[in-house]
Amino acid sequence: MQCDMCGKEDYLLRTLIEGTELTVCKACARFGKVLGNYRPEVKQKQQEVKKQKPQVPAIEIILLVREDYAQLIKQKREQLNLTQEEFAKKLNEKHSFLQNIEAGKHMPSIELARKLEKTLGIVLIQEHKELHEGNINQQKSGVMTLGDIIKLKKK
Ligand SMILES: [Zn+2]
Repeated sequence: MQCDMCGKEDYLLRTLIEGTELTVCKACARFGKVLGNYRPEVKQKQQEVKKQKPQVPAIEIILLVREDYAQLIKQKREQLNLTQEEFAKKLNEKHSFLQNIEAGKHMPSIELARKLEKTLGIVLIQEHKELHEGNINQQKSGVMTLGDIIKLKKK
């Protein structure tokens, strides 16, 4: 911005000079009454910044108990020289309940599986990644195009 009186580019003041409000530099402001600082109107483009919701990952991790849980539990229990009764006590579960688990008749809940993991020092829970609709790109990733293969070879 330039001073209305002398044309100098400077810090400008809104000044009342002879009944007219002018935007002038400090030097010219002496000739009138300073009303205040001049603030150029900044045209604020109302940029509608769309708040993008953080993308919910399309992959959900599902915890599953391993299919061979019965065998794993039994093996490890035997390795530890624990009878089913002793082990059931340790877990604070009923003997018959444990029997069913070891027989593969009853799949332990995730909660119980965690307890079994800790008690026995084995891994029973597996993470299963489930893709959800809405993330087509990731769903496509299973299929490799020729381009993808070339890219991989270049690496
Ligand atoms: Zn001036």
